[in-house]
Amino acid sequence: MSFRDRSGGFAATIVWTFILYAVLTAAAALLTRFNHGIALIWLANGPLLATLCRTPPRRWLPIAIAAWLGMVCAVFTAIGIRLVAMPVALVDVGEAVVAAALLRHWRVSDTLFRSVRTIPAFVAACAVATLLSGLPGAVLAAETLHLAVLQVWSDWIIGHGCGLLLGTPLALVVRRDEGAWAELARPGRGGAAAGAALLVAATTFGAFWQSTLPLLFLPFLPVMIATVAFERVGAAVSVVIVATIGGLLTIAGHGPVMLMHGDAALRLQVFHFYLVVMFLTALPIAALLVQRETLVRALAENEARYRLLADNATDIMLTFDPDGTVRFVSPAVREIALYEPEALLGTSIIDLIYPEDRARVRAIYAAGLATPERSHAFEFRAIKADGTVSWFEGNSRIVVDANGAPDAIVCILRDLEGRKQREAELERAAASDPLTGLLNRTAFRRRVDERLRGDDPPGALALVDLDYFKLVNDVHGHATGDTALLVLADLLRTNLRAEDAVGRIGGEEFAILFAGRDTAAAVAICDRLRDLLARTLIPAPHDCFSITMSAGVMPLRRDLSVDALFSRADEALYRAKALGRNRTERAVGAG
Ligand code: GH3
Ligand code: MG
Ligand code: MG
Repeated sequence: MSFRDRSGGFAATIVWTFILYAVLTAAAALLTRFNHGIALIWLANGPLLATLCRTPPRRWLPIAIAAWLGMVCAVFTAIGIRLVAMPVALVDVGEAVVAAALLRHWRVSDTLFRSVRTIPAFVAACAVATLLSGLPGAVLAAETLHLAVLQVWSDWIIGHGCGLLLGTPLALVVRRDEGAWAELARPGRGGAAAGAALLVAATTFGAFWQSTLPLLFLPFLPVMIATVAFERVGAAVSVVIVATIGGLLTIAGHGPVMLMHGDAALRLQVFHFYLVVMFLTALPIAALLVQRETLVRALAENEARYRLLADNATDIMLTFDPDGTVRFVSPAVREIALYEPEALLGTSIIDLIYPEDRARVRAIYAAGLATPERSHAFEFRAIKADGTVSWFEGNSRIVVDANGAPDAIVCILRDLEGRKQREAELERAAASDPLTGLLNRTAFRRRVDERLRGDDPPGALALVDLDYFKLVNDVHGHATGDTALLVLADLLRTNLRAEDAVGRIGGEEFAILFAGRDTAAAVAICDRLRDLLARTLIPAPHDCFSITMSAGVMPLRRDLSVDALFSRADEALYRAKALGRNRTERAVGAG
């Protein structure tokens, strides 16, 4: 919405305030004054308070001036120039401003009649504002009308108090509650609304047409039905119907109020008070229903979110009764603990805990009951469906009911051993070469580094490269080349000791760490491996073939870095290639 729109809207609000205040003042003066007293019903402040509740205080002044002018103009038009109308109008408008300021101060003006707690605050604000305005108002009016101050004061309090209590929610619902009115646009609701309105009208007519039975309570029934069905709009429209039909019949001399002693003025006041009580009975019910709808919506959303989490979580989500009976368990229990989720429903969670840990888990649960606002973490052993026992980590929270008593326990269970296994697998995968399963380059270098840091004699490093391997790929294809790499990997693995290390450090380059061996021993083993490889037949699609390898050996010296050791071994390997391949060379100065 642009600034222009907003200021246009505000100008309309000011004009409306002026017109409404003038019309309601004139109507009150013309229709509800008896015995030359003050107006007995003062609805004008209802719409004014409703407007102020929806407007920031910095904009209250022009609205208050518009209302004041509206009243002064109405009085001057109806009765002629009366200077006392000016201060009286000030007191009238001031009353609405005081009520609005109190509601804002109590932070209920934005949610007025949408929650139950706003209603007592609203009644209190109306009472305070009316009592404050009553004194100067009654003194001014009594002086002008030559009446007793006390009489005017009581008329003022009843007329203004009831006017605010009735007029404000009516004005708010009728003018501002677009959301509530939208409900009526839903299919089928319009007809039901018309039916409810008809029921209220017919019952009110029945109760107020006769003057023999005290049937004032009768319209409460259809008003409550309309309120339950249509919430705030139902309550507001019903009260307007009762006010119109009941009011007209009362003025015409019909209805249960005729049964009381007193003049027309008192009857009107009683009827007015009756409407206020009716509306104030219906409004909290409407507010409760709105709150309940919001709650149901939030609950459904939470439930959907929880189900989504529970169905897809890798941890087990569990809900059980305070006595341990399982209410819900997520599908992850199938994979982690091998139970069918449905089979666990209704069973006791205690039976799944390893007997030795039961007392400890019970103690944690008892401690949890004392602090339901916190979640509690604990570790315990559980028995899986196959009878094995596994460590679990649990995180639980107590759900309390409206009275604070424990209603359920929600819990997330994590399989600690499964996690440890997965971590170890991941670590292994990160350290090994995917084709051969040997150590990869990084892991092999780390092993060399660890060996150098240890106290034992470090040993020797050999770098191995297959001879003419490009040719193998070219002649037999890449897949057969891979088979050859696997054959060499197997050969190295099976012919070396557990304390030695073998890695695939490049395409067809391998490295061996001969733990604790001197150069001569390492060279001898390399030659034996070379010989073994040359005699191993590698299967190819059409025939078999064999391959050879060259190696460069370098003793692991603690005064050199891993990089330097690799580069010395590489020099030796390069020499082995240059000297005709299928041979082992030792690094220069290796002895
Ligand atoms: P040289 O005797 O000089 O070592 O000759 P070479 O042909 O073996 O040359 P080099 O060591 O440079 O060749 C590496 C070749 O190894 C290139 C590539 O075709 C092949 N190769 C590298 N990784 C793989 C692999 O994972 N699978 C297969 N099948 N071949 C690979
Ligand atoms: Mg190579
Ligand atoms: Mg090669």
